[in-house]
Amino acid sequence: MTKTQTNDVLTQWDHDHFFHPSTHLGQFARRELGNRIIQTANGVHITDREGRSSLDAFAGLYCVNVGYGRTEIADAIAAQAHELAYYHSYVGHGTEASITLSRMIAERAPKGMNHVYYGMSGSDANETNIKLVWYYNNVLGRPKKKKIISRWRGYHGSGLVTGSLTGLELFHKKFDLPLEQVVHTEAPYYFRREDRNMNEAEFSADCAAKLEELIEREGADNIAAFIGEPVLGTGGIVPPPEGYWAAIQAVLDKHDILLIADEVVTGFGRLGTMMGSEHYGMKPDLITIAKGLTSAYAPLSGSIVSDKMWAVLEQGTDEFGAIGHGWTYSAHPIGAAAGVANLKLLDSLDLVNNAGAVGGYLNTAMTQALGEHANVGDIRGEGMLCAVELMKDRDNHVFFDAADKIGPRIVSAMLDRGVIARAMPQGDIIGFAPPFSLTREQADEVVGVTKEAVVEVLGG
Ligand code: PLP
Repeated sequence: MTKTQTNDVLTQWDHDHFFHPSTHLGQFARRELGNRIIQTANGVHITDREGRSSLDAFAGLYCVNVGYGRTEIADAIAAQAHELAYYHSYVGHGTEASITLSRMIAERAPKGMNHVYYGMSGSDANETNIKLVWYYNNVLGRPKKKKIISRWRGYHGSGLVTGSLTGLELFHKKFDLPLEQVVHTEAPYYFRREDRNMNEAEFSADCAAKLEELIEREGADNIAAFIGEPVLGTGGIVPPPEGYWAAIQAVLDKHDILLIADEVVTGFGRLGTMMGSEHYGMKPDLITIAKGLTSAYAPLSGSIVSDKMWAVLEQGTDEFGAIGHGWTYSAHPIGAAAGVANLKLLDSLDLVNNAGAVGGYLNTAMTQALGEHANVGDIRGEGMLCAVELMKDRDNHVFFDAADKIGPRIVSAMLDRGVIARAMPQGDIIGFAPPFSLTREQADEVVGVTKEAVVEVLGG
């Protein structure tokens, strides 16, 4: 967009009128928290209106997976907008883009998952999932089997049900959440386990045992589904401990509980494999997809439905009429066109393999650079995901006080040096989720800047 206003005018309007999500409103109003107006982006770099460029090592909100400035996707969006900017997808309507994308998703999904329902965000896709689970159990004549189990530290969105599924304090506080249909179980967070003597496999077995206790306490007849991210994302970027998903899957199967794999972050390559469910041998009944579906070039999300559930949904409409669930923008043609172009680009540029290879390099380099630092408790990751967790006293496993704001201070020191990482919201955890196109040289830059910032804030 051409610049029609000065930065000062925009900044004034920003403070006067723009309600920013996930923002401290008071600090923003008092200008203790500044704004940043982004102007352009290319590859792994974004540039603001002041002309400052930053290497975006979090790919926006871990979503710009193919990197910025991809003209192939921009062209596909423009062509779609010129040909047909919108038509709805109710009662059998579609476009070439939405139908083609459905086919492409089914080809990339685990076997036996062949239908896609579209939304605009990860949150609304998870709302859809919960409604489908409830509908499914109603059709099967199990009206009591409705509660959903989620994990502490899971992140599944900011809606009413999805904000409830999310297991992070900030997203519940003062919103009267979680709703009573949602119950939480242990986070698969080995590094923060209470019993320090457990090995990973024992900890996974313990998580499964705690899940089973919860199911028995609530009654299996009352539990419809379990939702989890293959790798905990916003809760701290935590890959599952050894054997975790196999142990959880066995408990779910035993009690006839559906599995929703929330792949909003892991879907379409972030772990170096197409889907996280396959990466960990999960057998989901529903998969949530969003971010990586279009690499955020247009808002689009989806719920991939297993054939097992599909058969019951079809039966339901035969018994009760058309399914009463739809968004105006379901399968929006512009989002669908962006999705098709994005998935083609992932393949033609071999970006999923690059995510695995360079992501592995990033994790190794980060461990070499910071593994011995006295305040670094844990460095972990999978594919193009990495996290550095800071501790006050790592020998005695003591964390910093949140009030010390160690994570935000490190991230701010990194930004001063031209690299964007994310201070994860619960704990002093620096998160990295760069575009899959990251090079080894860029990974070195990210690691070098992280080390400098850690040393600036914590010494050593
Ligand atoms: N699920 C997961 C795993 C996410 O990470 C997110 C967002 O970060 C969501 C769901 C919600 O997606 P959205 O912000 O598009 O509503």
